[in-house]
Amino acid sequence: MKQSSHTPILTNYHTHCSFCDGSSNAEAYITAAIEKGFTGLGFSSHAPVPFETSWTMKKEDLASYIRTVRDLQERYKDRIEIYLGLEIDYIPGTMGPSAPAFRDLGLDYTLGSVHFIRNRQNGPFPTMDGPEEEFMEVLETCFDGDISALISHYHSLIRDMVREHTMDMVSHIDLYKVHNRNNSRFDESAEWYKREVLSTLEEIAGKGTIIEINTGGWFRGKVDSVYPAPWILKRILAQGIPVTVNTDAHTPEALDAFYPESLDLLKEIGFTTRLVFRRGSWEEIPVQLQ
Ligand SMILES: [Zn+2]
Ligand SMILES: [Zn+2]
Repeated sequence: MKQSSHTPILTNYHTHCSFCDGSSNAEAYITAAIEKGFTGLGFSSHAPVPFETSWTMKKEDLASYIRTVRDLQERYKDRIEIYLGLEIDYIPGTMGPSAPAFRDLGLDYTLGSVHFIRNRQNGPFPTMDGPEEEFMEVLETCFDGDISALISHYHSLIRDMVREHTMDMVSHIDLYKVHNRNNSRFDESAEWYKREVLSTLEEIAGKGTIIEINTGGWFRGKVDSVYPAPWILKRILAQGIPVTVNTDAHTPEALDAFYPESLDLLKEIGFTTRLVFRRGSWEEIPVQLQ
C-alpha cells in the first residue's frame, strides 16, 4: 500500500469484536476502518482463560477466530493491512502472553495484559476494571483496605509478566485509574506510587517491548486521559521505551476514538516518533498524522 506524504497513518492493534466482548463481527470493524482512512487494523480478542468469564473468548472459538481473521486479511489485502493478534492475560502460574499454547498459533502480534487482580483458589476472579463493588470487596478482603498494597501488587504482576514472557505490547499499565478519579483513593504524586511505576518502566525498558497509549477508558468516560497518565508518558519518553496508539475499541465507531488527541498529547510531551506495524514488522514513524 503506497502512502503519499499527506496520507494519515492511522493504525490500531487493540480491538475487540464479537469473538469476545466487542459489539460487532470482525468485518464490520474492517469496513469502518477503511471508511475512517485506516491503513492497518489488528484484531486482539481477549484470549481464552481457564475459567468462566463474560468477556473473554471461549476456548472452542479460538480456531474459528483465527480462520476468520486470516480469511479477512486475504480478502481485504488490497485495501487495508489486517493483522491477527490476541490480548493475553497474565495469570501467575497459569498463563501469559508467550505461553506455548499462544506462541504456537502463529499470531502476528500479542498484547500482554493484567486484568485479574487476584488468582483466588475458589473464584470468582475479580478484575481491575470491574465494577466498583467488586473492586472494594477485593481491596477489603485481599488487601485489608490498603490501596497502596493493591496497586503495588498490580505493578508487581506487570513486572512478573514482562520478566517471564515476551509480547509486542504491554496494555493499559495504569488500568486502576478507573477507580481513582480525581485522586479519590490515592495521590498519584505520592512517592511510593512513583517508585512502583518507575520500577515497572525499568523492567520494560531495554526489552524492545512497546507500551501502548490506550484511549479506551478516556473514550468510555471512565478516566480523563489516556493510559498511561501523562506524567508516566514523560518517564516512558525519558527511558526510550517505544509507544504505539491503540483505542481498545469494543465498537467499530471507537476505532479512532481520541486518536488525534492522543497524538497531540504525545507531541506536547516531546515524543517525535511512534511505532506502527506495517508489512509484518514494527516501524518508527513521526508522531503526527502525516
Ligand atoms: Zn484490556
Ligand atoms: Zn482490550
